[in-house]
Amino acid sequence: MAKKRKAREPVAKIRTYLKYGFANTRIESYYCPRCRHLLNAGPDYQPRYCDQCGQRVVFDKVIWKEPETIGYVERRYRV
Ligand SMILES: [Zn+2]
Repeated sequence: MAKKRKAREPVAKIRTYLKYGFANTRIESYYCPRCRHLLNAGPDYQPRYCDQCGQRVVFDKVIWKEPETIGYVERRYRV
């Protein structure tokens, strides 16, 4: 069944996460414009609806960026 809500663009936010436990990586993430749920979207897959609130989202204008390594965490094993 088609939903009649208007499609909206997702909200982009830069976030960083630790890749492999030591590489600070900066990626752009996309959130639902309605309920701010993190959308599981990437260059190869974009959901058509938010799986939390059912908001229709369009990724047509999104320019996907490569994740960027911005630094490494020093290991602090030494006492
Ligand atoms: Zn939502």
